[in-house]
Amino acid sequence: MKQNSYNNVIVSRSAIVSNYLYLKSKLKDGKKTLAMIKANAYGHGAREVALALQGAGCSVFGVAETREAVHLRENGLKGEIFVMMGFTHDAVSLFFEYDLTPVVFSLEAIECLSEAAAACGKDIGCHIKVETGMGRLGFEPDQAIDIARKIDSLPGVFVAGLLSHFPESEDPQAASTQNAYALFSELCTEFKTEFSSICHLANSGAMLNFPEAHFDMGRVGISLYGYHPEGDNVGVEHGLIPAMSFATQVLQVKEYPAGVGISYGHTFTTSRRTKLAVLPVGYEDGYMRSLSNCGEVLVRGQRAPICGRICMNICMVDVTDIDGVEAGDEVVLLGRQEDETITADDIATWANTISYEVLCMIGHTNKTIYID
Ligand SMILES: *Cc1c(COP(=O)(O)O)cnc(C)c1O
Repeated sequence: MKQNSYNNVIVSRSAIVSNYLYLKSKLKDGKKTLAMIKANAYGHGAREVALALQGAGCSVFGVAETREAVHLRENGLKGEIFVMMGFTHDAVSLFFEYDLTPVVFSLEAIECLSEAAAACGKDIGCHIKVETGMGRLGFEPDQAIDIARKIDSLPGVFVAGLLSHFPESEDPQAASTQNAYALFSELCTEFKTEFSSICHLANSGAMLNFPEAHFDMGRVGISLYGYHPEGDNVGVEHGLIPAMSFATQVLQVKEYPAGVGISYGHTFTTSRRTKLAVLPVGYEDGYMRSLSNCGEVLVRGQRAPICGRICMNICMVDVTDIDGVEAGDEVVLLGRQEDETITADDIATWANTISYEVLCMIGHTNKTIYID
């Protein structure tokens, strides 16, 4: 993390808490909400987000890898922490030492957990991941019951849950969503006759758009941070509040006549007398090169377009039509300035990606200030 930088990521913990409470209110009583704080809480800072959510009553969290879970435990997180992506076998003891919850998708991992459990005299509950059309991790649906029986037959391990993941959760009508839902529902019914475990399937999209798919727990990621998987600023329509802003300042203002090439490759040529503001932000700061000649930033409450290629630590914006811009002026790349707002969905549209990636990229490398 860069100290003393021109660039600051600003995160509102209260926005995340408010999104959490709102999402939780979408679930019927007795169902749980798992807060996804993998990827450093989608760039917002895993420790700060997790502790803020813990303060708001959240007691179930999810990360990708064991190292992230260990970091959170060491920072005082008390609830259940799901490790979604398995583990290298030399890390199995961490599940017992730090009381972590494994998601399992291979028999080898289950046997490894069983041996480690026997060795330390503790039992561990496993959540079985099944593949229902994502083409990603998991046992095939027709293996699930056998795997669950196998788990129950091994010492030290027991079946605590069954889960799957939607490829297009934001669209309940999509064939993939309907298929995954039908497969999972059937499996879940069968499961519950034999195992006292929970079933969970919904991520943000299903949490907001597909209540039938809530089962026993929703796993919310992007919506906690104020966005909807659909993009297009749909999150705001659902009452979600974006939590991250990103700001810098003008490094220098330059004036050029018409016909001057700007930045690497001269992909932009001034078409009139042009005032450019040079900004100390580039792709190293998570401001992606694909925003070259198509992004916008806010200066003095107005939109200024990116001119030319984004460099490693610098980019230029056209401020010809904005009065009085000078070195040191605040520039907002993500977030609100006066009456204008740029969202991660806007940036994602310009850069041909999704809000998730924008938040991760910007959040990962910059100094973060928590405003509340
Ligand atoms: C990341 C992830 C989620 C959260 O998804 P969002 O779309 O961010 O809500 C839920 N479940 C699994 C298995 C995930 O990997």
